[in-house]
Amino acid sequence: MTTALATNPDTSTSLQWNNQFARLGPAFFTTLQPSPLREPYWVSRNLAMARELGLDADWFGSDSALELFTGNRVDEGSKPLASVYSGHQFGQWAGQLGDGRAILLGGLDTPSGNIEVQLKGAGITPYSRMGDGRAVLRSSIREYLCSEAMHGLGIPTTRALCVTGSDDKVRREEIETAAVVTRTAPSFIRFGHFEHFSYNDQHEELKQLADYVIDNFYPACRDAAQPYAALLEAVSERTAHLMAAWQAVGFCHGVMNTDNMSILGLTIDYGPFQFLDAFDPGHICNHSDNQGRYAYNKQPNIAYWNLFCLGQALLPLMDNQEQALAALEPYKAIFPAALEARMRAKLGLPDVHEDDKGLIDSTFKLLAGNKVDYTIFWRRLCSFTPQSGHEPVRDLFFDRESFNVWAQQYSERIALLDAAARSELMLKTNPKFVLRNHLGEEAIRAAKLKDFSGVDTLQALLQSPFGEHPAHEAKAGFPPDWASSIEISCSS
Ligand code: AMP
Ligand code: MG
Repeated sequence: MTTALATNPDTSTSLQWNNQFARLGPAFFTTLQPSPLREPYWVSRNLAMARELGLDADWFGSDSALELFTGNRVDEGSKPLASVYSGHQFGQWAGQLGDGRAILLGGLDTPSGNIEVQLKGAGITPYSRMGDGRAVLRSSIREYLCSEAMHGLGIPTTRALCVTGSDDKVRREEIETAAVVTRTAPSFIRFGHFEHFSYNDQHEELKQLADYVIDNFYPACRDAAQPYAALLEAVSERTAHLMAAWQAVGFCHGVMNTDNMSILGLTIDYGPFQFLDAFDPGHICNHSDNQGRYAYNKQPNIAYWNLFCLGQALLPLMDNQEQALAALEPYKAIFPAALEARMRAKLGLPDVHEDDKGLIDSTFKLLAGNKVDYTIFWRRLCSFTPQSGHEPVRDLFFDRESFNVWAQQYSERIALLDAAARSELMLKTNPKFVLRNHLGEEAIRAAKLKDFSGVDTLQALLQSPFGEHPAHEAKAGFPPDWASSIEISCSS
């Protein structure tokens, strides 16, 4: 086991950085220094994650760490860089994008392998276009909390180590203050990285990138007859599982552009995301998404569309178009099967019946017809038994008759199952706590007044979302009326 931190008696020496991504060469990035922020302060530190990375706890609380994770100093051995990518945004080719405000410090050898460390909001890069290279406190807290909430739910995601803030001003719709999220992942490579080199006819670099991803993350593809088609298929498979996880938990990403799609099948780039409150399949969480392209129920098809763009980008490495199409084909079966498996677990069904698909469909239909709170429905259902009066669940429905019909169908399905085992499975599958918009908003409002305790509390709570936390019962309750007036746009 390697430890990322060097022996560090005065807490001022550096982490042991590697520059795995940088070894790809200068076609892939620009080296640069982060831009400092004035008088940074800690907003929140994720101590559990620090332990996972093998960071020294004392050092993680030090000014040395604060300066590093704000971008105010750079360790020896770290070669900060911003990578170049392109992408399709809202269905249109957007040309060159790139890390406009994310700066990769490098990789750390950790107990769980190489982990790349990126500062989001650490200043202008050659890819900032019209942007200021900054992130505001509000959006940084949202990304930090949601990364860890997703991780707590067992959903693949980039992680977040800490947020630092500064009173330096940042102009959005109104004047806000700056913050930096330190986020981590085995790789931040996006579909858009491949699109970039493909659209620019840089086929050597395209191949180099694909080889890098295969060698480091999908080694089994190397042995396939056509490694690049195998890569496309493997990415499709991971993406299908990710979509199933999002749909099952009621997560809406909001900006599924191809530059926001991880080649590792991780949830990445948290912006206007939302966990559903009332179940509305057509829910649009991004206030800037006028057409509803990224509505909740469109996500699985959009992911497929994005995979198609990835396939298009990889074509120069394949023998013919049929190889790419064949590699994309399994998505159409894997996604529905993965979603069905997740929904079956949510319903507490340990075995497979041929009618289950019908039960799952009628559950979604029932929830949509009654606009029932998605998370609360599932959690209350954990205590449902055919013998009980079902009041806690029935009370969620205004159309009691349709609920009764559904409850009869469900009761028949579970009649022969062991109630305790079913309930146990359901409690592990249906979270009690998700990062609802209003919970994040309350923590953000306090944080703007320099009270960061709400951020820490939520972060710790969301690490174990399936548990009971009596002190935080209110955070598992219905959203207040004002929650529906929260408008989250791309502005961050
Ligand atoms: P997003 O929609 O946040 O994924 O961003 C799309 C593109 O815009 C990416 O290339 C970002 O790096 C860039 N971008 C977003 N916000 C800023 C900003 N404030 N400054 C510079 N670049 C930005
Ligand atoms: Mg992005």
